[in-house]
Parts: sequence; C-alpha cells; structure tokens
Amino acid sequence: MKILFYDTKSYDKESFTKQAVNYPDIEIDFLKMDLGPHSCVTAKGYDAVCGFVNSNVCEKTLKTLSEEGVKLVLMRCAGFNNVDLEAAKKYGIRVMRVPGYSPEAVAEHAMMLALAANRHVHKSYIRVRENDFSLAGLMGINFYGKTAGIVGTGKIGAAMARICHGFGMKVLAYDVYQNPDLDFATYVSLDELLANSDLISLHCPLMDNTYHLICRDTIQKMKDGVILVNTSRGGLVDTNDLIEGIRARKFFAVGLDVYEEETANVFENRSDEILEHSTTARLLSFPNVIITSHQGFFTSEALAAISKTTFENAICFEKGESSPNEVKA
Ligand code: NAD
Repeated sequence: MKILFYDTKSYDKESFTKQAVNYPDIEIDFLKMDLGPHSCVTAKGYDAVCGFVNSNVCEKTLKTLSEEGVKLVLMRCAGFNNVDLEAAKKYGIRVMRVPGYSPEAVAEHAMMLALAANRHVHKSYIRVRENDFSLAGLMGINFYGKTAGIVGTGKIGAAMARICHGFGMKVLAYDVYQNPDLDFATYVSLDELLANSDLISLHCPLMDNTYHLICRDTIQKMKDGVILVNTSRGGLVDTNDLIEGIRARKFFAVGLDVYEEETANVFENRSDEILEHSTTARLLSFPNVIITSHQGFFTSEALAAISKTTFENAICFEKGESSPNEVKA
C-alpha cells in the first residue's frame, strides 16, 4: 500500500518514518504542500492520501483523487470539518481519522492558556527580560473555588473537566450527551453554563449547529470578567463579536489555540510578511489575549499515537475491515 502525506513538516516526517518500520507493507512519501483541489493530482499512483487540519478535502479534491485511483483519505487529526463526507461517499472514498490520540495533550494546553492569560505570563515574561520587575497590570484571579464551564465533554472536554476538578474548581458541563465518567460535574443548559462559569472552555466539534456558538448573544449571557478558552476550532467563535466583547470589558482573559483566520498561518513562519487580515492583529493587540498556533495536540506522546493510529487505519482499510475511526456522511 502506498500513502502520500501532504502538508508534512519535519516533525511529521520524523514521527511517521519512525513508526513506519512497524508496517513494512506500507510505503510512504511526503510532500510539503497541503492537500487541495490543485495539489491532489500528485496522488496519482497512491492508494491513500494523508491530510491534516487545513487540508481542503472538498468535492473537487475528492473527485480528482478518485480519478487518480485514491481510495482512502487518512486524516491525521481528530476534526474532519474540512472533509466533504457526502462527496467522499459519492466518489467511493473512505475517510478515517485519529479520534483520540492524546486528549490530555489538548486539555493541558487549554489549561495552560487559561492560566497564562489569567496571570498575564505573556506580559511578565517580556517585562522581566527587559529588567522591568513591576507588577502593575499582571494581577490574576485564583482558579481554586471558581466555576469552570466545559462545553463538549467528549475525550478532550472530559480531560479538561478532570484538570479543572483537580484545581478545586466546581465543574459545569454542557453537551448533547452526558459523559457518565464525569460524576463530579453538573450538567446544565448552555445558558446556565454561560451565566455561571468563571472559566469557559470549548471542546465541542465545529459543525453547522456549533458554528459561531460564541457570538454577541451568547457573550452577553456570560458572567462579567469571564475567561474564555478555545482549543477546539476557530469557527466556534465569531471573532468580530469576541472583539466587541473584549472592548466592552466582558472578558478577564481570552486564550485561543484556534481562531477563524488561522488557515493561512497555521504551522507557517510568516514573520517577514505584512499580514493582510486585521482581525487576528486586532485580537493580538489586547493585553488580555493569548493566541497560540493550533499547538494543543503537539506533544511527543500525541505524535507517536497519531502515526500509529494512522497506519492502523490504513491496515484496517487494506483488510476491508470496518473501523470506529471511519467517518461517514
Ligand atoms: P469528541 O468527539 O470526543 O467530543 C466532542 C464532544 O462534543 C462530544 O461529547 C459531543 O457529544 C459534543 N458535542 C457535539 N455537538 C455538541 C453541541 N452542539 N454542543 C455541545 N457539545 C456537543 O472530540 P474530542 O476528541 O474531545 O475533540 C473535540 C474537538 O477538539 C475536536 O472536534 C477538534 O475540533 C478539537 N481538537 C483540537 C486540537 C488542537 O490541537 N487544538 C486537537 C485535537 C482536537
């Protein structure tokens, strides 16, 4: 079986090459460019392609892939909002993902963002480097005894709920399904969660009904001085409404690992460019906002698990077996 990897960085190549020795029947090649309607012709002669969070697996991509003989799309991530599943079905291409490579990696990053934004670590780090040891503007709040609101209590949300519980926080949860493992959490309506949480962390997937879940209307329902963290997908938050809320002093702090305009930025060094878009720059101009570049998943444990599961998915496809990692329309 031959797999072509798109959008590969040095760390992807390293981790997949290391893992590949355990799968001698699989041949792999790497491309730096991402998977999309123009680049997918390069998949000619491959059985499968492997994409990532910003790959554009739209109908046109899938049509061309099927014409080139590709029968499997392996997503080396949990989210699959960038794959047109209806089109995959139409062109007879199976789609598999890596649903739970290391929920703790993302949850720990979410808590890191909450803590860093709350205690202004991004500011204090720079200050001390400049021999400025003043504290004005750096005051935070204790998390102990406060209320955390977890939106989406699947694998990552549950891990974040456990972390918050460990911090001595009361945990409120909102999900369309209740997670029986979270006996310490109280499931409430979204409105109740918004109204009562000091820290709100988003962990539901981006779907039609979660697009702009955080918007002017839901921001107004939040407590004043709330801390908002998004490590899930940028589209969950309406950035313009968030900026309006930040300007209205609604938020004590905001930590974002994902944001609406991230697609062109993610995993790229654009430090010598004049960025065209202004909303990210506007967000970064606020002293109480921290943005990281979709790095929640980025731990050695998670990368090893991603490469192993991706190869296992390929083997499963080869054997014609069904898999819980397959996503269908
Ligand atoms: P999961 O499928 O285990 O959990 C998602 C949960 O959201 C489920 O419990 C589901 O019932 C719930 N949900 C669905 N619709 C909802 C709604 N309308 N309102 C509230 N809850 C709803 O997924 P996971 O592994 O926990 O991942 C969650 C998300 O995290 C992924 O969709 C992905 O977008 C994101 N993610 C980000 C990174 C990163 O590096 N920042 C890495 C991995 C995953």
